[in-house]
Amino acid sequence: MIIIMLGAQGTGKGTVAGLISEQIGIPQISTGDIFRKNISEKTPLGIEADKYISKGNLVPDEITVPMVDDRLTWEDAKNGAILDGFPRTIEQAEKLDEILQKNGKKVDLVINLVTPKEEIIDRMLTRRVCTNQDCKATYNIKLHPPKVEGICDKCGSPLKQRADDSDPEAIKRRLEIYEEKTSPLVEYYKNKGVLRTEEVSLSVNRMGKDVAEDVVRDIRNNSL
Ligand code: AMP
Repeated sequence: MIIIMLGAQGTGKGTVAGLISEQIGIPQISTGDIFRKNISEKTPLGIEADKYISKGNLVPDEITVPMVDDRLTWEDAKNGAILDGFPRTIEQAEKLDEILQKNGKKVDLVINLVTPKEEIIDRMLTRRVCTNQDCKATYNIKLHPPKVEGICDKCGSPLKQRADDSDPEAIKRRLEIYEEKTSPLVEYYKNKGVLRTEEVSLSVNRMGKDVAEDVVRDIRNNSL
């Protein structure tokens, strides 16, 4: 099963993807996480990607698409994957369709998370991530803080703020790119009949874990 997480930055795509991944046993593939791991290890891919990421711009398709194509061939993804952060443009979505088609697969479900803009910005500013790249747990110092301040509950490593979450210009740029380039994917996948839109907001008391629970239940009941 191929699931795509759609939604602006800070809507909780990573949280929902992680919970579904744990429950149904298919990997969460986050392009942002792959880039950040490469940046922290100073690989050639990381050095190149950082030029774009630090400014809040998209990494070019020549780098991003082959990276996803390769990742989908790993053994752990043979029964599917949850793509978190890819595709981000119509061009990437079309390339993904080609990649999946050659492996006899297709996009089965697109979970589109919608959150009011004020909440999104607040969440990006209060997000903290584990510095251990093999853990990558995400917290929010207001909504779900770690048990000990600044320390990851899961692995005990220090937490930090993502570089692109602490720069107001990069946040603004990322939200602009979302509106301009990524939001047309909502229509793209609606037309394919695979879109499921979910509101995630304090105002309706519905958070990522509630969405994940409902999706997992529907997958188990075969009622998607
Ligand atoms: P994320 O963790 O999904 O917010 O991604 C962090 C940054 O990585 C983005 O702001 C982009 O610079 C880059 N990135 C992640 N996924 C993609 C993608 N599918 N295409 C281009 N750039 C991406």
